[in-house]
Amino acid sequence: MSDPAGEAKLEVKQASKEAKESENVAEKYSAMTVSKNSEMNMGELASVFSAVPTHKPVKKQIQFVEEKQEFSRFPTKAGRRSLSRSISQSSTDSYSSDSSDDETSPRDKTQVNSKGGSDFCVKNIKQAEFGRREVEIAEQDMSALISLRKRAQTEKPLAGAKIVGCTHITAQTAVLIETLAALGAQCRWTACNIYSTQNEVAAALAERGVPVFAWKGESEDDFWWCIDRCVNTEGWQPNMILDDGGDLTHWVYKKYPNVFKKIRGIVEESVTGVHRLYQLSKAGKLCVPAMNVNDSVTKQKFDNLYCCRESILDGLKRTTDVMFGGKQVVVCGYGEVGKGCSAALKALGAVVYVTEIDPICALQACMDGFRVVKLNEVIRHVDVIITCTGNKNVVTRDQLDRMKNGSMVCNMGHSNTEIDVASLRTPELTWERVRSQVDHIIWPDGKRVILLAEGRLLNLSCSTMPTFVLSITATTQALALIELYNAPEGRYKQDVYLLPKKMDEYVASLHLATFDAHLTELTDEQAKYLGLNKNGPFKPNYYRY
Ligand code: NAD
Repeated sequence: MSDPAGEAKLEVKQASKEAKESENVAEKYSAMTVSKNSEMNMGELASVFSAVPTHKPVKKQIQFVEEKQEFSRFPTKAGRRSLSRSISQSSTDSYSSDSSDDETSPRDKTQVNSKGGSDFCVKNIKQAEFGRREVEIAEQDMSALISLRKRAQTEKPLAGAKIVGCTHITAQTAVLIETLAALGAQCRWTACNIYSTQNEVAAALAERGVPVFAWKGESEDDFWWCIDRCVNTEGWQPNMILDDGGDLTHWVYKKYPNVFKKIRGIVEESVTGVHRLYQLSKAGKLCVPAMNVNDSVTKQKFDNLYCCRESILDGLKRTTDVMFGGKQVVVCGYGEVGKGCSAALKALGAVVYVTEIDPICALQACMDGFRVVKLNEVIRHVDVIITCTGNKNVVTRDQLDRMKNGSMVCNMGHSNTEIDVASLRTPELTWERVRSQVDHIIWPDGKRVILLAEGRLLNLSCSTMPTFVLSITATTQALALIELYNAPEGRYKQDVYLLPKKMDEYVASLHLATFDAHLTELTDEQAKYLGLNKNGPFKPNYYRY
């Protein structure tokens, strides 16, 4: 039997150990001032992190399942590549100008940029100018990367780095890639999703001389071909990987083991990719240090809480035009995503109910002014159900049967099994596609329930992502690359690491300028009183923001 009291004691013991470690670090850096903190130079960045105790690998408690699907050239169904948290599908739908009706595969075309370069494969290089304008718009909300670029005028912390990247290719990614180049890196890039590439942005990158291999609507074969073109090129061998989903990492690992062995560091962005890295690590097959940026505090808070707070409304309104004032909404799950969704809907005047399995989150919902209910208690009269649990079958067929005519159901969680959509594909129910991403499910008595995005993540499928959120992620990626590339031998072993808290704080500090926010500096007396270094880290690792 488990012993909760014993577990609690253990946790406290662990917490005080970590607090002690933080104090030691604080001691070491007591000479630096807070204002200098945000003016840290790139060299300092690496050395500051050298003392942060979180460098020891943080093992995540994940279920380790042996991966069944080997990496093949034609895997699974088209369109199933990871659509992780970097860009919405529809944002590319909305903005990607794909005016050319040219059906010729980019692989069959010969294209050159204005300098005569041809080391790229994009839909249409002539779209470069339009793409450049998109990149410039993104730059306006990505001031942290721009400030890193300014520092690159004197420092090149990525000089010699050969980064191969596999992420969504969007205007925001272009800002990241061009920042990495300004910091001294050579980059080759491909897309982690066959649909999410903004063709004009890929063209803009190719025009600037970045070898980019991606276009919107790649086939599965194209997808792997593009990855291979990035890695397998004469006279160039990557020494760093930036991945989003783990496909690139897996490709290099499987196809080019000798290249993989020489990689200095992997930075991984997505839940899926991080999971794969932990699997490799657990199997003792990870011969390269890797940084899990998915679980950094800034990413979790901004992606899950603040981003969902904004994008839930965007997704709902674009698809349905519904007015939410006075509507009765159930949010299932009151974690970060549920909190964001509930807050946004409450602000619009919706009557929000919350369902929870965890008494702590349930109590938080009560304190925030929400009624905590069982779904069955309200199912018959609510207008909207939004799932945000990361769990499966949170809304069952039986419950869908009891929803009222005209009610709506959608999902904000990772998997499309939160709502039992499969159970709706039965002969007695009629599916009517009324708009892109909007289906009416019609019961034999004429009752209609509106299902959004077929139960997939609503905001990724139906809205755009705020550039500012992507800026935080991109800055974290850039700093993780700098850290891994510059780390002295031995600092990182062949394992998966979380970002040091100091780096998280630095990412946040770089974004404060956008709001003209002025940090208060600890006085010497206050720092001593709190047992903190004036430059951070300001919180112990166990602190829950
Ligand atoms: P979280 O763990 O903080 O919150 C999930 C909550 O759901 C927990 O409090 C849990 O107790 C509760 N829960 C679990 N099963 C439940 C059930 N049957 N009924 C009611 N409540 C239940 O996780 P999170 O950060 O809020 O993320 C939730 C999901 O959203 C995850 O799948 C995550 O991958 C995904 N996510 C989506 C986006 C997006 O943009 N849509 C962004 C980040 C994360």
